[in-house]
Amino acid sequence: MPSSPATPPAPKVLGVAVPTPLRKLFDYRPCQPGPSAGWQPGMRVRVPFGRREVVGIVVECRDTSDFGLASLKPVSACLDSQPLPADWLWLCRFTARYYQHALGDALHQALPVLLRQGRPLEARTRERWQLTATGQATDAASLGRARRQAELLELLRQHPRGVVGSVISAQGFTRAQLRALAGKGLAECREEPLTAAPSTPGGALLAEPALTLNREQATALSELHQGLDRYHPCLLQGVTGSGKTEVYLQLIEAIVTQGRQALVLVPEIGLTPQTLARFRRRFRVPVVALHSGLTDAERLDAWEAARAGRAPIIIGTRSAIFTPLARPGAIIVDEEHDGSYKQQDGLRYHARDLAIARAHKHRIPIVLGSATPSLESLVQARAGNYRHLRLTRRASSHAPARLELIDLRGRSRQGGLIPPAIDAIKGALGAGGQVLVFINRRGFAPTLACHNCGWLAECDWCDSRLTLHRQPPQLTCHHCERQRSIPDACPDCGSADLRPLGTGTERSEESLGELFPDVCVHRIDRDSTRRKDAFETTLNEIRRGEPCLLVGTQMLAKGHHLPHVTLVVVVNADAGLYASDFRALEHSAQLLVQVAGRAGRAERPGRVLVQTLHPDDPHLRLLAESGYDALAENLLEERRIAGLPPYRHMALLRLESPREADGLTLAGEAAGALRQWLQARELAVDCLGPVPAPMERRQGRYHVQVMLSAARRSSLHEASAWLTAWMEQSPLARRARWNLDIDPQTLS
Ligand code: ADP
Ligand code: ZN
Ligand code: ZN
Repeated sequence: MPSSPATPPAPKVLGVAVPTPLRKLFDYRPCQPGPSAGWQPGMRVRVPFGRREVVGIVVECRDTSDFGLASLKPVSACLDSQPLPADWLWLCRFTARYYQHALGDALHQALPVLLRQGRPLEARTRERWQLTATGQATDAASLGRARRQAELLELLRQHPRGVVGSVISAQGFTRAQLRALAGKGLAECREEPLTAAPSTPGGALLAEPALTLNREQATALSELHQGLDRYHPCLLQGVTGSGKTEVYLQLIEAIVTQGRQALVLVPEIGLTPQTLARFRRRFRVPVVALHSGLTDAERLDAWEAARAGRAPIIIGTRSAIFTPLARPGAIIVDEEHDGSYKQQDGLRYHARDLAIARAHKHRIPIVLGSATPSLESLVQARAGNYRHLRLTRRASSHAPARLELIDLRGRSRQGGLIPPAIDAIKGALGAGGQVLVFINRRGFAPTLACHNCGWLAECDWCDSRLTLHRQPPQLTCHHCERQRSIPDACPDCGSADLRPLGTGTERSEESLGELFPDVCVHRIDRDSTRRKDAFETTLNEIRRGEPCLLVGTQMLAKGHHLPHVTLVVVVNADAGLYASDFRALEHSAQLLVQVAGRAGRAERPGRVLVQTLHPDDPHLRLLAESGYDALAENLLEERRIAGLPPYRHMALLRLESPREADGLTLAGEAAGALRQWLQARELAVDCLGPVPAPMERRQGRYHVQVMLSAARRSSLHEASAWLTAWMEQSPLARRARWNLDIDPQTLS
């Protein structure tokens, strides 16, 4: 076939990224005929790979290959007539490079499942359904018992110019019903081209009026308005309920009015129907949500709508950062400190950090919002790299409640609660309020113990205790999810005196039920909300406002508006205080402030009681007496002195193997080789270890680590790249599992 004059000369070699953990491209010859517009990076191809055929993505078009042209296999087929979006490809390449991850695997993970499988990129047309002349003349009643068909007929009758397929299915009608009407000659369908431009909203963008901003909100928004057309990173720090979301909404209004798109990231736990409803109430244009509940087809639709520019507002959790945007206008990362933005396996990216990179690349504003910003973002703000905007007042009149520390030592406890806490609960319920009891351990008790010999129920596979559950009764390991039945007698001494040790949500629920038999106790944790809709049903009941007790883990503490809660009791604040992980204090302070933020959000003031065995702990006191900013200041100083992030950059090599010695030997060799190389290169990177991981045995495997840290990111990067390459070619490493975590969020 002669190629048209506009087509670039055909390359002789295609460098293809294939979904494998190997960090390299694979060379293929182009197939004949190629795509009519010529080969371009970003096109999907089907290629033979080992014994399989896989979908890969062309990354390079070249004329030479290190392997010689003759030995190359041809690609089997080109799947696209145009490349995948350039901004998306750029982000994937950036991600793979930054996180030292195989590009093929990064591209694969960042692509909707159906596109990974080779589905055509774009539905260029859509279906529009309308009634035929016969249909118009037909009375719905004549359809008899086919009630939905009759309703569909009426829907189409109301829209003489037709209704698009997606709108029909959004109303709950099925294809079968459409086909039935078509089969009877009542309705017909035509294909129409998709226009890329969103329906210009004009003056009708808002479906409800925006709120009048208070002074601080107005200042923040005008600051944001001044940076709409450039990279303009802002840290929006505001206590829970101070009106950050309202600022986001009004920023988005400005962006969408310009015909551009806004991408909003929320933590996993934060994409609630409430949040979505709030965005959808405000805007008349579509708000596309990307969450785990979508089918593959819905996900592809959303991706496509964003890519083609049809979706002006996209809201989603971590992986939504990989959504292509036709006309990027702004990125918002809500609760930017939240741990769920970091993917903890496979491609270990941090969505907030990628959001920053993306905003920089697109030259658009980015807002990082939080009541308790990460130390990383605070340092950037201090250095003047981010604009620091603050909302100190709640939109409602009440100031956020202070934390009141109460001493657990030597006091009798019921369901983990000591008498002053129980009295306070009594008082709050009596005054008609709701009470939130926060306890970050699900199950009945953290473990089961023999009162005779001290035996503790432990996991056979992990260095951890088994959690006692009552509903249903069993012992479960929260690290490997293995379950065991509850023994009748101690396996060591035979005594029948086995007792639960400590308190989990189930036990607290039970005790509170006994203490306050007249009020309803709702437990909210991963177990109680496993059933679909269970969580929403409970929340709706809570929102009715009757006095009640809520017992919950951080599921309750984050993201939910609980206007009737007047008292929060934290059963134990000590988990993060003396943990080995250097971020533990930061994270537990953020969680405490967030839990505390649940109290007194509506017209009533709130109170927060924090039970602790360490009421004199300086960090805890600083947080309680002076607030998060003061604690953050203090923690930053400690990190600076200790040479820890955010003042130094870190990477963690994790290795696991079935035998302890194997992992240690390999890690030792890797660390040794790296040290030698660092010395020869005179590169200022510290290499620590190997050391066993804090929980050395997990799922029956031994975990070992080597830690890298450097003052300069570029040095760390160079060392990480070298270490990854070394690991990849090491024969020993091929038999172990390993990964390199750049900017690890935990050291476990
Ligand atoms: P945040 O996102 O900081 O938690 P929200 O934006 O959700 O805060 O605001 C908390 C509550 O205050 C919401 O009910 C919101 O409707 C209300 N609110 C926010 N800003 C204003 C305002 N300027 N005037 C009146 N009410 C406001
Ligand atoms: Zn015993
Ligand atoms: Zn286990």
